Amino acid sequence: MEIAQRMTALTGDGSDGWDVFYKARALKKQGHPIVELTIGEHDIRTHMNILVAMGRSAKEGHTGYAAVPGTEGLRNAVARRIEAQSGVPTSAENILITPGGQSALFAAHMAVLNPGDIALYCDPYYATYPGTIRGTGAIDHAVRCDPAHDFQPRAADLEPAAKGARSLLVNSPNNPTGVVYARATWETIAQTCIAHNLWLISDEVYDTQVWHGAHISPRSLEGMQERSLVIGSMSKSHAMTGSRIGWICGPVPVIEHLTNLATHTTYGVPGFIQDAAEFALAQGQELEDEVAAPFRRRRLIALDLLAQQNIVRAVPCSGAMYLMLDMRATGLSGETFAHALLDAHQIAVMPGESFGQAAAGHIRVAMTVDDDQFFKALTILVAFATKIGQTKVVFEP
Ligand code: PMP
Repeated sequence: MEIAQRMTALTGDGSDGWDVFYKARALKKQGHPIVELTIGEHDIRTHMNILVAMGRSAKEGHTGYAAVPGTEGLRNAVARRIEAQSGVPTSAENILITPGGQSALFAAHMAVLNPGDIALYCDPYYATYPGTIRGTGAIDHAVRCDPAHDFQPRAADLEPAAKGARSLLVNSPNNPTGVVYARATWETIAQTCIAHNLWLISDEVYDTQVWHGAHISPRSLEGMQERSLVIGSMSKSHAMTGSRIGWICGPVPVIEHLTNLATHTTYGVPGFIQDAAEFALAQGQELEDEVAAPFRRRRLIALDLLAQQNIVRAVPCSGAMYLMLDMRATGLSGETFAHALLDAHQIAVMPGESFGQAAAGHIRVAMTVDDDQFFKALTILVAFATKIGQTKVVFEP
């Protein structure tokens, strides 16, 4: 029996640059002591107080169907948080609660794309973006962002692609680069969206992880409120990856349609998870800072270490839990370097090539092991790169 093309086209042809990741996982399963600096998951678990709130809610009976768009309490809490951060008047009617940011990304694209529409996203990109778009029946189109400009999209990158497209998906703080978009970048994005009548889908799941500069939500820019769908999640901000809780913030009519979509897909999010999320948000910035603190510390450890050499160059890492390292001075591709590092030192990192064409020659390092282990692994990584860089044969014409 044949499977629908929509499904078989979700992921590419299999040569997706995730070989290192799978190899590391297999080695780990065999008992090898692999240091995994690969995926974006905290090395701490959800705070005990959040779990207590979750248990209390469940015991009190919030285990039946919850309201499809989300509980009144959580929708209000999310709306207040967004309004406080962005200054844009926001109410519960602007919010749909979703089972995590990923399903929000899919639903947002479903809301604005017809089959065959062109949907843009920036390269380097979070691994699911192309498949998320293709799953809606639209055509995914990557906009390549230059490493020389810290992977921030410029008008020259966006303009040629924007003509005839329907939507643009952006992500700041960015996974995989750790870059936080500057105000000028946002202004360019807004101008492009307005000039070409694009929907903007803004993935802001790392909004609490900003180490340098400030997070700007493009929904707050002039002319953007009615064409922006903002994706949020408690996964990264509150170490609640397994709870599957996120949201979409957008214009009321879109949220009404998305509620209809939720009725036909997820049928909402468990009430006790929503109550736990509401409790977590009520703890305010203090808890968010506590969850973000390990990454803030490890970034400084890394910058200190990297300042002592000139083979490995860090892309300015202003946010998120990743470092994007430029390995081109070693003469190796990101993929070859990552394989060699895993084979020689049992340290697993993601090749830049796993995240598109633009990050070729780079690696992504997730700062997701304890400080000591992180320092040791990065020290080995840098020494290994230096050795390769020094023995590199430079061919001169
Ligand atoms: N967007 C980005 C950029 C991510 O890195 C992730 C998770 N790694 C997600 C969305 C999805 O997160 P979740 O579904 O856990 O909320």
